[in-house]
Amino acid sequence: MHELPVTQGILQVAVETARQHNADHITDIHLVIGVLAGLVDDSIQFYFDILSQDTLAAGATLHFRREPAIAVCGQCGRQTEVTPPLLTACPACASPRLTVTGGRAFYVDSIDID
Ligand SMILES: [Zn+2]
Repeated sequence: MHELPVTQGILQVAVETARQHNADHITDIHLVIGVLAGLVDDSIQFYFDILSQDTLAAGATLHFRREPAIAVCGQCGRQTEVTPPLLTACPACASPRLTVTGGRAFYVDSIDID
């Protein structure tokens, strides 16, 4: 359960950004989360609803965009978009020499303010 500190970070970034723009209220927060980041949307929303009370972000809606992970085959070079559970062999040539990149991002992409 590392969604709690992660959610605190989201809230901090969002509130600071809103203050810089002299906003009264944050209506929406757009997040990018990699499929391998191990974060559960519902848990983030749950903590956010609690933590955001009495802040500029109270009642804001969270939007989640998934960043895919890409498995690159060391044998034939084929790139395959993957989600957990990860592939153990290349779908094109069945080689197990796969290197997975991406999918671990986590950041606040943008916020909408009033
Ligand atoms: Zn292959």
